[in-house]
Amino acid sequence: MAASGRGLSRVIGASSCPAWRGAHWEARGRLKPEYDAVVIGAGHNGLVAAAYLQRLGVNTAVFERRPVIGGAAVTEEIIPGFKFSRASYLLSLLRPQIYIDLELKKHGLRLHLRNPYSFTPMLEEGTGNKVPRSLLLGTDMAENQKQIAQFSRRDAQAFPKYEAFMNRLALAIDPLLDAAPVDAEAFQRGSLLQRLKSLSTLKPLLQAGRVLGAQLPQYYQVLTAPITKVLDQWFESEPLKATLATDAVIGAMTSPHTPGSGYVLLHHVMGGLEGMQGAWGYVQGGMGALSDAITSSATAHGASVFTEKAVAKVQVSSEGRVQGVVLQDGSEVRSKVVLSNASPQVTFLKLTPQEWLPEEFVDRISRLDTQSPVTKINVAVDRLPDFLAAPNAPGGQPLPHHQCSIHLNCEDTLLLHRAFEDAMDGLPSHRPMIELCIPSSLDPTLAPPGCHVVSLFTQYTPYTLAGGKVWDEQERNAYADKVFDCIEAYAPGFKGSVVGRDILTPPDLERIFGLPGGNIFHCAMTLDQLYFARPVPLYSSYRCPLRGLYLCGSGAHPGGGVMGAAGRNAAHVVFRDLKSM
Ligand SMILES: Cc1cc2nc3c(=O)[nH]c(=O)nc-3n(C[C@H](O)[C@H](O)[C@H](O)COP(=O)(O)OP(=O)(O)OC[C@H]3O[C@@H](n4cnc5c(N)ncnc54)[C@H](O)[C@@H]3O)c2cc1C
Repeated sequence: MAASGRGLSRVIGASSCPAWRGAHWEARGRLKPEYDAVVIGAGHNGLVAAAYLQRLGVNTAVFERRPVIGGAAVTEEIIPGFKFSRASYLLSLLRPQIYIDLELKKHGLRLHLRNPYSFTPMLEEGTGNKVPRSLLLGTDMAENQKQIAQFSRRDAQAFPKYEAFMNRLALAIDPLLDAAPVDAEAFQRGSLLQRLKSLSTLKPLLQAGRVLGAQLPQYYQVLTAPITKVLDQWFESEPLKATLATDAVIGAMTSPHTPGSGYVLLHHVMGGLEGMQGAWGYVQGGMGALSDAITSSATAHGASVFTEKAVAKVQVSSEGRVQGVVLQDGSEVRSKVVLSNASPQVTFLKLTPQEWLPEEFVDRISRLDTQSPVTKINVAVDRLPDFLAAPNAPGGQPLPHHQCSIHLNCEDTLLLHRAFEDAMDGLPSHRPMIELCIPSSLDPTLAPPGCHVVSLFTQYTPYTLAGGKVWDEQERNAYADKVFDCIEAYAPGFKGSVVGRDILTPPDLERIFGLPGGNIFHCAMTLDQLYFARPVPLYSSYRCPLRGLYLCGSGAHPGGGVMGAAGRNAAHVVFRDLKSM
């Protein structure tokens, strides 16, 4: 299955009079020899950075190695007639001010909110239950409590208190996302002016402390404990605990029993859509339509975005200052600053001349934890899955649970832990954790009439298999078959509905999207790689030891997810530095 959109190098930019054709900009133009700023990579963060810089009057060009923009926020028609959010598929984390500042609605962004949003069907084989039970969660608290009461009345009572507790933590963390972390280096060793300036970076931390108040120790525990320990304090029923625990391990090579898994859970509940905290939705036209809207906003102000233009190297002057990039085709593009949307490992180990980076810094970057458990499978089907726990309507039209994140093999936390343990033995999980989504249940533009696109976010799959074996076609298909067998058990007939599939193991995610180890966040979101330690201690302010080079992607604070925060924060840091140049 080949990616669509291959063709001649394209430039998307105001300078070349872009033409809007359906959901994509298409235009040609000439590369200029010099810009104020160059961005390596047109992931959504690189595009956000370019859009902000250009609005601030900094002439910016973005160079993307792939034929499509968006990085992991992309739509690709990998099976004719079916448009897939090939990597990320759900929107929630994008910072609210980015919608406003970049006028994303005006630039074509349309969202489909999901309510209900979570569906966990059971199998309940041998229990005599004709229709197995399921847990459906949405924004209606009374309805949620009814659903939870099927499993535990006590949990139903505790649920609103748990939600309020977690929401308060999300609220406290919120201001920390929109600014560079505390600059400990400047605070300690900078000039008086730098020290005074760095004091302002303390403000969001103090704000967070104020929101949490006397409950700070309890919240500290949520961030550092295994999520099982946290959830056990609140609840007793496994279907609820396991459903909530999925958010704590998603994208992470960790078990719900691993300390620190609470932070990943928080990372996944701290977003919101259209003013609804914690809501997740689908982007009309797939995730690539978000990247298109950001691009449209950037280019409307004069930025240029080039596809199929891989950057080979960052250019450094003899005085040790960044002066542009060299593209893979040999062309040189000068700029005052370079922002890299590529991962820290690609940026500092592959694209930056090593002689300009301190050995200790290079060593730390090369030791970043980039392990990932994720295999994404994109599936085209000719009818909606029909779950035993919630049978389809006679006409086959989507029912409320079809728009949810459908959690399979998630009715017990032990199942999740066992799935993790398999990967620790070098094996793909025997019963993988599966998050099944059907974006076409709300957005019919994605598939031919009656057909659907199904997104399977699955884990755990190690990068290298036991005995050092690499993933080949046979291993890849065997794993996908196993995932399909699991789905078949919950929704008989699923296998017969499959028209085509696209299997992306960790090495595939690395090769196609440039994600080291296949890590969906560029590097793991473990406590030791967050905030002022992201990507490494002392270099969390988007700057690095080489003057004029900046990180603006998920490998920088506040990390992965379609947030745009790293791009926006980096643009502000770069703009301040440019003013003092
Ligand atoms: C399978 C999967 C599912 C996910 N699901 C979700 C989800 O549902 N919701 C969510 O919020 N997040 C999700 N994520 C995480 C989220 O998609 C990423 O964290 C985020 O999109 C990363 O954005 P970015 O702009 O920082 O980097 P990227 O999207 O990785 O962009 C970096 C860009 O740089 C380009 N590049 C690299 N090297 C060069 C070079 N030398 N020259 C030119 N260009 C270069 C790459 O091609 C790429 O386009 C998912 C990720 C994956 C992989």
